Amino acid sequence: MSSRTAKVEEIWEAAKGALQVQVNKANYETWLKDTKGLNYEGNRFVVGTPSAFASEWLGKRLQSLVEKTLISIIGHQVEVTFQVCPRGEAYSHVAAPYGPVSEKGSFPLRLNPKYTFDSFVVGRCNRFAYATAIGVAEEPGRKYNPLFIHGGPGLGKTHLACAIGNAAIDNGFRVLYASTEQFTNEFINAIKEKRMEDFREKFRNVDILLLDDINFISGKPQTQEVLFHTFNELHNANRQVVITSDTPPRKLASLESRLGSRFEWGVIASIHFPDYETRLAILHAKAQQLSMPFDDEVFELLARKCKKTIRQLEGTLNHLCANSELLGKSPDQELAEKTLRELNGEGSAPKTLDSESLIIAVARQFNISPESIKSRKRDQRTTRARQISIYLLREKSNVSFQTIGDMLSGRDHSTVLHAYQNVASKLKVDPTFQKEVDNTWRELQSPGSP
Ligand code: ADP
Ligand code: MG
Repeated sequence: MSSRTAKVEEIWEAAKGALQVQVNKANYETWLKDTKGLNYEGNRFVVGTPSAFASEWLGKRLQSLVEKTLISIIGHQVEVTFQVCPRGEAYSHVAAPYGPVSEKGSFPLRLNPKYTFDSFVVGRCNRFAYATAIGVAEEPGRKYNPLFIHGGPGLGKTHLACAIGNAAIDNGFRVLYASTEQFTNEFINAIKEKRMEDFREKFRNVDILLLDDINFISGKPQTQEVLFHTFNELHNANRQVVITSDTPPRKLASLESRLGSRFEWGVIASIHFPDYETRLAILHAKAQQLSMPFDDEVFELLARKCKKTIRQLEGTLNHLCANSELLGKSPDQELAEKTLRELNGEGSAPKTLDSESLIIAVARQFNISPESIKSRKRDQRTTRARQISIYLLREKSNVSFQTIGDMLSGRDHSTVLHAYQNVASKLKVDPTFQKEVDNTWRELQSPGSP
């Protein structure tokens, strides 16, 4: 067993230890106990499971928890894939699912099967990139060569590159996917082990080369040089090159200009962050894969709140599923809010609101204006909203009765105290009122509140 394999296994054993205390015993015994660490390259960690069913279950239910646990052990972002590897098989011989870490001339059956055109949701943000990707998969080397896809992290570049690969493999093309880190490492090893000929053959003997995260090549002149020659040979032979990057070619720091200008020969397609409607569509698509029932409100909440990357959007949904599974609760709005708070690092600690925001939020709950709460109006709804505001201001934000009175049209200390005591005693005997106050407070703490 190589030291690399040993390391993967050690990391996974540590992760299993940490997971054992996070999931219930039955789940651990059924799904995690017999798994193994198979491969760890770049930011991808492959976990071997005893069956396709186990892989699917783990991917659907525990992906985000497993990733979080691995991140806490490894110290940086990882993406986990679960892959079947029957017990007793020599794990160290299993190739990564992302491409042939192969002997000469062998090609993978499929790249990551999650990444297909079908599972890619198209919106204004990525329509052009999607269309060019389809063109490339259908007629590699003919239409858009090279295809350079750029966009911020977590916006679907790898997904699209692998979708090209999977579709092209289905069409009988020889596809090679490599992260630029993998390309660099293989190049360095080839030099060390005097296997440059193998290296050349591997990267040039393909119909499509998918090179992910080219930005990794910045500041590595030797790798740039070898990539320049690889690119020229492939391009001259009308072989397709697809490159992804988190910046456009011209902005790639210290990328040799001749390499940069090669990338500009073909088509440059950018991917942007999706708008609200596309985020909703992505959530619907991901939820279908998870086969878990979600309310529309939950989708809307997540689409409103997750505004960083699609990975964040997906990760939040996965995390919600894991929470639902582990806590035995339905994945409703309340659990979604808790999940968002957890992921925002807010844990279950109550959010402290300034007095003004608290009044605005209570007013919104009661569908009245904050001015009404502060006014002398005495209709039932306004009085109730005012009482709850007073109670929460005192109880949760620790504001003095005098200050509360000043905020509420100069009511005096004893009036405010009286209102507070009224609410406190009513809470003890009136469960409906208690629920109303609890709901108001929960709503105030939700990530969407002011
Ligand atoms: P990048 O390579 O740009 O960092 P990825 O391709 O790894 O991002 O995408 C991150 C996650 O978001 C993946 O799980 C991917 O399936 C998902 N994703 C990104 N874009 C889309 C999309 N348009 N439709 C569906 N899923 C998407
Ligand atoms: Mg990527």
